[in-house]
Amino acid sequence: MPDSDARPAAVDGHGTATPATRLRRPRVGLAARLAIGFALVAGLFLAANRATQQTTWIAATNVARVEFQFEPLARSAQQLASSIAAYDRAALARADGVAGSNPADPDRALAGVDAALAQYAKVHGEHHPPVPDAMGPDALGERLEPWTTLGATLVAQGERRRAELQRYWSQFDAIEQKLQRAHGTKPETGDHVVVRRSASEVSLALGQVRERFVAYLAAPDARHDAAVAAAEADFRRAFSQHAEALRAAQGGTWVASLQGDFESNVTQRENVIRAERRYARDRLRFSSVTARLLETVDHQIAVPARAAMADATRVVSEASRGAEGRVVSIGLVALVLILIVSGLTVFAVAGPVRRLVAATRRLAAGDHAARVPRGGTAELDGLAESFNAMAAQLAGAQLSVRTYQQQLEARVDERTRQLKHLAHHDPLTQLPNRRHLFDHLQTALQRLEADPVETRRVGLLLLDLDNFKVVNDGLGHEVGDAVLQAVGDRLRLAVEGRGFTARLGGDEFTVVCEGATSIDEIRRLADRVISEFQRPVHAAGRELLLGVSVGAGIAPDHGSDGESLLRAADAALFRAKELGRNRANVFSPDLLAAAATRFQTEQALRRAIDASEFELLYQPQVVLETLEVDSVEALLRWRRPDGGYHSPGDFLHVAEQSGLIVQISEWVLKTAAAEALAWHRDEWASARVAINVSPQQFLDGAFVGRLERLFADTGLPPRCLEIELTESVLQTGPQTIEAVRALHKLGVSVALDDFGTGYSSMTSLEKLPLSRVKIDRSLIADVDTNVRSAAIARSTIRLCHDLGLDVTAEGVERSSQVEWLLGCGPVSVQGYWFARPFKAREVVPFREVARARAAEVSRLVLERPPAAEVIPIPTRRRPRRPG
Ligand code: C2E
Ligand code: CA
Ligand code: CA
Repeated sequence: MPDSDARPAAVDGHGTATPATRLRRPRVGLAARLAIGFALVAGLFLAANRATQQTTWIAATNVARVEFQFEPLARSAQQLASSIAAYDRAALARADGVAGSNPADPDRALAGVDAALAQYAKVHGEHHPPVPDAMGPDALGERLEPWTTLGATLVAQGERRRAELQRYWSQFDAIEQKLQRAHGTKPETGDHVVVRRSASEVSLALGQVRERFVAYLAAPDARHDAAVAAAEADFRRAFSQHAEALRAAQGGTWVASLQGDFESNVTQRENVIRAERRYARDRLRFSSVTARLLETVDHQIAVPARAAMADATRVVSEASRGAEGRVVSIGLVALVLILIVSGLTVFAVAGPVRRLVAATRRLAAGDHAARVPRGGTAELDGLAESFNAMAAQLAGAQLSVRTYQQQLEARVDERTRQLKHLAHHDPLTQLPNRRHLFDHLQTALQRLEADPVETRRVGLLLLDLDNFKVVNDGLGHEVGDAVLQAVGDRLRLAVEGRGFTARLGGDEFTVVCEGATSIDEIRRLADRVISEFQRPVHAAGRELLLGVSVGAGIAPDHGSDGESLLRAADAALFRAKELGRNRANVFSPDLLAAAATRFQTEQALRRAIDASEFELLYQPQVVLETLEVDSVEALLRWRRPDGGYHSPGDFLHVAEQSGLIVQISEWVLKTAAAEALAWHRDEWASARVAINVSPQQFLDGAFVGRLERLFADTGLPPRCLEIELTESVLQTGPQTIEAVRALHKLGVSVALDDFGTGYSSMTSLEKLPLSRVKIDRSLIADVDTNVRSAAIARSTIRLCHDLGLDVTAEGVERSSQVEWLLGCGPVSVQGYWFARPFKAREVVPFREVARARAAEVSRLVLERPPAAEVIPIPTRRRPRRPG
């Protein structure tokens, strides 16, 4: 049942209730609607039932009236009629003298009439209300009275009639007998035959009389009456004709008496006829009274009774017809009511349900503005209200989801942009990254290919920082990062407008130079980069002088795709580093062969580690003062299949670049330590083995710990080991200083190797607890021939001595060098002049050999010219030597 509440205006956009809905009238629920409908129907049925009951009661009353009043009345009327008829029959039979009739019959029948009358009186008296038009019992009694008197008279007349007739016949019979006697007897006189004939004739006439009278009796009417009188006249005539003869025979007396008898008989006959006539009249009267009585009973009692009965029956049937009609009409009304209630209910349910379904579909299809118009049964209205609230919530939720989604999308866009930038840029330097580089390079190369001009070139510069690892590990990664940023800035500055700068990874940078018209132009750019890096860079508050190496690959000369150009640049870079770093080098085809060799070497090294193809040779360091072997330096060798050896210079750089150096160094340490322990325990208690430690091995942070474990596990005294570190390792800040100090504390002496090459930093000598400095072969090489060299070497040695450090001169090959060194104070000597590196087993015997060379040294001392340049040897102990 839709109503005004169904207007959508009742619910605002969010489905919340407005005042209009809050004030809405209460709705009728489905159950209440059905209850009202069914109550109406039930009421109707009750009314119908009541009406039908009433009708039935009327019918039953009338049926009872018929049963208990009119029917006894009718029965009583019938009984009256039949008793009257019975009395009529009994009276008539008795009066007629019917054979078998009993004199008591009329009385008995009369008693029946009385009984019927009494019954009627009873029924009539009991009847309420009295039957209209019905004759009362008293009136009936009055009517019956004369009739019964008439009946009794008729019976008495009948008796009398029969008595008269009997008398007649007795007289008649007596006459007849007289005549017969006369016929039979012989006459005393007269002719006998005549007499006889006369008697016959008279008898015959008498017979005629009898016959006619019998006929009259059978049908007593005037014709037969006349016939009887005629026969009597005939008899008289006949008798008078034959009176003579008879007189003659029977005497006159007899004739007179007979004559007299006959006449009295005729008189009797007349009596009979009179009686008969009276009787017939009274009988007729009686019968007609009877008929009238019967008619009265019928008309005035039976007919009203029947009419009343019919009336009652009609009332009954009318009542039942009325009841039937009422039931039918009530049924119809009930049906109509049910139809109306059902229709209204269906209307109140179907419409709202349809609207709900439609709104649900819209909502499901994503239309969050879908709302259901209110209305219908309370339940459906409640459902619509809930639906609207739900839809409003959904719309709200969707709104927040959309807002959130927009924010999310914005964030995603931002992140995507960042990721895109990240995907193409290096986060540290903000320079394009490797991928970006290759995209750019590829485009440049495609352009070159698409428009080939003979002079046009695309150059790829690959730039690598020299010893960046040292900076990174030594000064920390933060400084390393800052250095890389500074390098990026410097590089950008260096190639500004001339190329596309990118960071390839680690300390490798690239420049793509697209607009060049010659190889030389690219070479100039590479040189320009190198020269830009000659100025120190500023990073993390430090000023650092960085060495860079640059390799250049050029298209189309060295390759036409990015990968091959990069390979070419890499090979050129490697060569630049080999050539002494801090320089630029342009690719040449032979470099590829070198790179291939490097690769092969690396592969072979890996196999060598597994196959234990390494060996250690030992080179003694002899103290010039005492000519004692102070220590031996373990030098790595890689056995060749032909029995010869690869020198460390052939493979160490490959091992370092590939990282294999770590495994190799471990092996060296273990093997040397085992050898030292063996010597220490046997023939050479003060044995000391010097081990070269690569920067990678030393800087991995666990080196000192490993040594501690080694000493603990093997029982090797720490003083039996000396660690040789190059300057590049020592340059690298706090971490290294800590490690060197820890070694010193442990009792392991540390030597600074190759002193005089690269960045010879005096501060490292000062800051670090070193034991020894090994002066590089290059400084010693010309001391005996070049004054300048000698001066440098001498001052270097003096400086070390001044700092309390032991000094070893490396690469001493000639006696003249030894001679010169003898003038430099306490110096250890290592070099071919004493011994080439040899196998471990030769170490102990060599100690004797070394002493054997004492004579030669003595000779040298003796032959030494007393020159002014001889430097006095400072006599001092070695304060810092451990153990
Ligand atoms: P280094 O530490 O300076 O070792 C001394 C080098 O000079 C040795 O070359 C040695 O044979 C050579 N030498 C010694 N006396 C003379 C001489 O009188 N004249 C000449 N011309 N050379 C002489 P080697 O064995 O070829 O080693 C080269 C470099 O390889 C070493 O230089 C060292 O830096 C490195 N090295 C050797 N063994 C190892 C090792 O086990 N580990 C590490 N990390 N580096 C090693
Ligand atoms: Ca060394
Ligand atoms: Ca050296």
